[in-house]
Amino acid sequence: MSDKKDFGFETKMLHAGHIPDAVTGSRAVPIYQTTSYVFDSPDKAAQLFELKQYGNIYTRINNPTTAVFEERMAALENGTGALATASGMAAQFTTLMTLLRPGDEVVASSHLYGGTYTQLEHTMKQLHVKVHFVEPTDIKNWEAAITPKTKALYGETIGNPKGSILDIENVAALAASHSIPLIIDSTFASPYLCRPLDHGANIVVHSATKFIGGHGSSIGGVIVADGKFDFTNYPSIADPTASYHNLKFFETFGEYGFLMKARTVTLRDTGACISPFNSFLLIQGLETLSLRMDRHVKNALAVATFLKEHPQVAWVNYAGLPDSPFHDLAKKYVPRGPGAVFSFGLKKGSGDVRAKGKKFIESLDLFSHLANIGDARSLVIHPASTTHQQLSNAELEKAGVGPELIRLSVGLETIEDLLWDLDNALQQSSL
Ligand SMILES: *Cc1c(COP(=O)(O)O)cnc(C)c1O
Repeated sequence: MSDKKDFGFETKMLHAGHIPDAVTGSRAVPIYQTTSYVFDSPDKAAQLFELKQYGNIYTRINNPTTAVFEERMAALENGTGALATASGMAAQFTTLMTLLRPGDEVVASSHLYGGTYTQLEHTMKQLHVKVHFVEPTDIKNWEAAITPKTKALYGETIGNPKGSILDIENVAALAASHSIPLIIDSTFASPYLCRPLDHGANIVVHSATKFIGGHGSSIGGVIVADGKFDFTNYPSIADPTASYHNLKFFETFGEYGFLMKARTVTLRDTGACISPFNSFLLIQGLETLSLRMDRHVKNALAVATFLKEHPQVAWVNYAGLPDSPFHDLAKKYVPRGPGAVFSFGLKKGSGDVRAKGKKFIESLDLFSHLANIGDARSLVIHPASTTHQQLSNAELEKAGVGPELIRLSVGLETIEDLLWDLDNALQQSSL
């Protein structure tokens, strides 16, 4: 893509990072399904391995199809570069492994995806990294948890199950005042609804498995960096790296220092790389991202409004509704709409509400019962009878996922059909 003009979001979705293949003329991005690349000469090979020249070595480190996905994501997030990974979990892990050392600490929002909570709480502990979880809506909580050992702040643009919207600019200002990078998981928003780097975040991670791919067909993740964070006094990126002849990543690569270390040290050594075929499928997803997100958001608002009025529904946590406590933050950070994933509560009534939740799920026709979000199809899960079934009702309340809570990921179907399906299941479950 030429740099003659600052192209719009949709143009970047379709063109960024790719020019038609010079040899074959292929208009679509080719799938380079190869493990390795022939070196021009032994000298060139030596240069590549010493990182004195950038080029393809081995698909665990880089791949031309994946490079298009990475450049496109960097363009869409207004970042300086990107690194694709095997999954969203791998994107987070690669980021943290690159930044942190044993003894470091992280301050994280407590409104997190369940898998992220487990990774931060348990796996990071094994690496001697302590994560302090804070209620994210009050900036004082973040501030109070920062210590001289804090090396990163971590949050999500749209947090579940409360549908909370993070005040990114506030948290970014705090991070900057302590010279700590702010990492934002923006999976629920996608770069079309929110670009955290524009609000002062330093690193964005995504589970590309969700809205970026958009079709529920591929697991993948991506890290995008702003390239502006000053790592001069940040040991893991500034200090000599023993496994690269004491190369100093920040001094050598400047704005690309963090990403170069993430790629050539962390990804090389953990092996959590994406397959070229999945990169290709994620590129297909990106090409229609804005169109799908507009429809996801439109359907989600219609569903949330419908549920809010329904006699069998106790509450709806969607920041797109005017009476949500997060409505003003949503207007600022996700003005096109706060995504399509949200929770609502079944009215408790006299019977067992957990059984009612089960009956509701069983009675749905179109919503698929599964543990995913961001598919083109509508999805539903009842945590009390699935992911959290071992917890008592009291424990569920404490975890913020009461037995009446249902989570939806609203898809792209005809809206009347989705409302018909929900209404029908709500009637059935109230019998
Ligand atoms: C799904 C998800 C992840 C994990 O991504 P995977 O691709 O499943 O590894 C992380 N964060 C959020 C917000 C998610 O929805």
